[in-house]
Amino acid sequence: MSHRILVLPGDGIGPEITAEAVKILNACRETGLELSLEEGLVGGAGYDAHGEPLPAATLDKAKAADAILLGAVGGPKWDKLEDIAKRPERGLLGLRKNLNLFGNLRPAILYPQLAEASSLKPEVVSGLNIMIVRELTGGIYFGQPRGIEQRDGQRVGFNTYVYSEAEIERIGRVAFEMAQKRGGKLCSVDKANVLEVTMLWREVMERLADDYPDVELSHMYVDNAAMQLVRAPKQFDVIVTGNMFGDILSDAAAMLTGSIGMLPSASLNEHGQGMYEPCHGSAPDIAGQGLANPLATILSVAMMLRYSLNEGELAARIERAVGSVLDDGLRTADIAYPGTRQVSTAEMGDAVLAAFHTSA
Ligand code: NAD
Repeated sequence: MSHRILVLPGDGIGPEITAEAVKILNACRETGLELSLEEGLVGGAGYDAHGEPLPAATLDKAKAADAILLGAVGGPKWDKLEDIAKRPERGLLGLRKNLNLFGNLRPAILYPQLAEASSLKPEVVSGLNIMIVRELTGGIYFGQPRGIEQRDGQRVGFNTYVYSEAEIERIGRVAFEMAQKRGGKLCSVDKANVLEVTMLWREVMERLADDYPDVELSHMYVDNAAMQLVRAPKQFDVIVTGNMFGDILSDAAAMLTGSIGMLPSASLNEHGQGMYEPCHGSAPDIAGQGLANPLATILSVAMMLRYSLNEGELAARIERAVGSVLDDGLRTADIAYPGTRQVSTAEMGDAVLAAFHTSA
């Protein structure tokens, strides 16, 4: 059966980096994997062509796809749009919401070849391999009521932090299953000493633990988790947390690895349908110059193969190809240092492709 893949290049460096990732997808096809690739417009590109950051045609294609590969959206050209519903980022939120992509997987892996690029000491981060499982469609970012209103003669802003048991349980199961496939350790991050919603979160995680006796569950308050991530990050295997805490902790974890240009992500729904994208944005400062690092997007293809297409072997082959290119000393500008060879976006993509072909 042919897998339907929708490619959404987006804005800024998006088209450059997805072009390199599509080279790898095509190489996967040559191994016998049946893929049908389609393209669509999203973000500023969608707005420019159709007046919407998520055009109806793109949403239809997204719903029909088994997996989506997204570059990045946004840029100064659209920052001044008065109607915030038309801003490029709304295209992404619309995709997450419409496809119910509640499970965000963000690995923070430090390739040993890049240990020097981290802001922490190499011995603290070398070999780092954490998976952060973030709830993506609930919590305070979506809770109602929300707003800014006049109360007693002054403006008051308010949001609602809400999770149902069912929402906690479904993200909990994703995280427990992830821990089963990895090192068997799951740390649930909350603020159960202060917030009732996370008291419930903790209670549900405890209950789920009975179904996963092979996983060692621990709990940590979010303030301590932030501290531990920069003190001794290798103590973590899988972290599960809500939308807002996950947003913040996953960015901190990303920086442990030294370069945002290396980090892929996946957002999944209950049917295994997923959207795969690099963690970084559209980098308008370097767009069109061949400077962008395509590895996060190429590694997002590996995640797509593993989590939506059930092709773990091919995924591992892509990851090995990336490792071997780094071993060869090839670096895009963001990860280059003296003694390495600086290459362009396309040269990096071609090198990974060549390594993929030879690592059969
Ligand atoms: P950014 O991630 O685009 O860039 C931050 C810095 O990292 C820049 O200096 C950039 O040049 C660099 N960088 C990012 N990706 C890189 C890569 N692959 N290779 C080399 N260097 C890279 O974040 P920003 O500057 O805060 O945002 C720029 C635009 O992207 C904004 O419009 C923002 O809203 C949007 N954005 C989109 C997403 C997304 O599409 N998922 C995520 C974050 C930001």
